[in-house]
Amino acid sequence: MSRATSRAGSRAAPEPLGARPAGARAVDVAIVGAGPVGLLLACLLAARGVDVVVLERRAEPGGRTRAIGIHPPGLAALDAAGIGASVRREATAIRSGIASCQGRRLGALDFGDDPVLSLPQHRTESLLEARLAALAPRAMHRGVEMTGLRESGSRVMVRVAGDETGWRARYVVGADGVRSTVRKMLGAAWIARPGFARYAMADAPERADPSASALLHLEPDGVVESFPLPGGVRRWVARLDEGAVTDGRRFAALVESRTGTAIEALAEPSEFIARQHLASSFARGRTALVGDAAHEVSPIGGQGMNLGWLDAVHLDRAIALALETGAPREPFAHYDRARRSAARRAMRQAAFNMAMGAPAHGMRLTTRNALVGLLSRRPARDILARAFTMDGLSTGSMPRSAGQSTRTSAPRRGLGGEDRCTPD
Ligand SMILES: Cc1cc2nc3c(=O)[nH]c(=O)nc-3n(C[C@H](O)[C@H](O)[C@H](O)COP(=O)(O)OP(=O)(O)OC[C@H]3O[C@@H](n4cnc5c(N)ncnc54)[C@H](O)[C@@H]3O)c2cc1C
Repeated sequence: MSRATSRAGSRAAPEPLGARPAGARAVDVAIVGAGPVGLLLACLLAARGVDVVVLERRAEPGGRTRAIGIHPPGLAALDAAGIGASVRREATAIRSGIASCQGRRLGALDFGDDPVLSLPQHRTESLLEARLAALAPRAMHRGVEMTGLRESGSRVMVRVAGDETGWRARYVVGADGVRSTVRKMLGAAWIARPGFARYAMADAPERADPSASALLHLEPDGVVESFPLPGGVRRWVARLDEGAVTDGRRFAALVESRTGTAIEALAEPSEFIARQHLASSFARGRTALVGDAAHEVSPIGGQGMNLGWLDAVHLDRAIALALETGAPREPFAHYDRARRSAARRAMRQAAFNMAMGAPAHGMRLTTRNALVGLLSRRPARDILARAFTMDGLSTGSMPRSAGQSTRTSAPRRGLGGEDRCTPD
């Protein structure tokens, strides 16, 4: 019996043994996918004593260069998982954002005492995986691809490639990214939302701004953004409207032609397409979706991973409640409503950011620049700074049991006492 089971008391009776493949391993929660969101949720559940496994098809951790920005509510979620102090130690703090056009400063945003931190995603994932190994040494299963799910009574049977036995879980979480197999198995629609553009990005040695500001060059031919990274490096991201940027030299030439800043790319640039999608449902029966499996948010504005962490904070509580009562319906329905609403808000913000960075000439450019100037003055400036640091993506409260409720998102400074586990 798992530690969570022994604590929980009243649970639904197990289904008849005939309904499962012989030898299927029993577990409270099976999480499919060990990206930053699946890992964080696993840490939160393991810290509660829930018997959790993470099934990840990659045999080795990836070194993909994707997210870098960690916003204050995301940092509070990392604190709850027990790696906040390590992240603060390794990350670079971005304290302000400066917008300019053709060498003229349009405005600046000050993130005050709650800076956005920058740390490469693979580093954050490593810290989370090490934390999970400390909390639950047998939870992580690499090289395991989930291929099928079947809900039967109070369990979900999880099939995996090349293994007849599989798993038998009370709850399953799809943290398996944008192309989520779990989402397809749930039958949830993948609904396109406004916001679409192409970008190229590369890292280069820091020369532009030793003060660690994010720089937004809102240029007539399209935005160029740059962000400081640890180790004296800066990430450059440029909007592309035509053609491809095939090598570091061409990328550097594009950045210099738009911004006047000479850079030397440390590696070949990578291109990505920013799109937005929302799953029609985040939970069905005993299975829930989190992170990119539930929502694809444009990286422009950099909120996808952080939003996923806030999903995980909410889902951790929903699962704990479901395990306690044996009734997932109400906590999962609340999770579904609250997190879809938060994702819609983050997508609106990202669509606005993308529109501001589109090529603009003549009257359109003048109007856009005037708007940026206006937005960087009070009171709009404070509202915008809060939006950029994801302050206010609160999701209200979730019923814990009759008459009780608890906050389900990270407030600006921490998650509150009950969510903290021993810090790293
Ligand atoms: C260029 C770029 C920059 C970005 N910058 C930011 C940023 O600054 N801030 C921010 O918040 N977000 C940013 N994002 C978004 C961020 O990278 C994603 O939101 C984040 O990776 C989502 O994490 P996840 O754990 O939900 O999914 P993923 O990271 O996609 O992880 C899913 C995991 O599931 C595994 N998997 C898939 N299918 C199966 C299966 N059947 N069985 C077992 N395992 C499976 C995959 O191998 C993978 O490891 C950026 C994205 C891009 C592309």
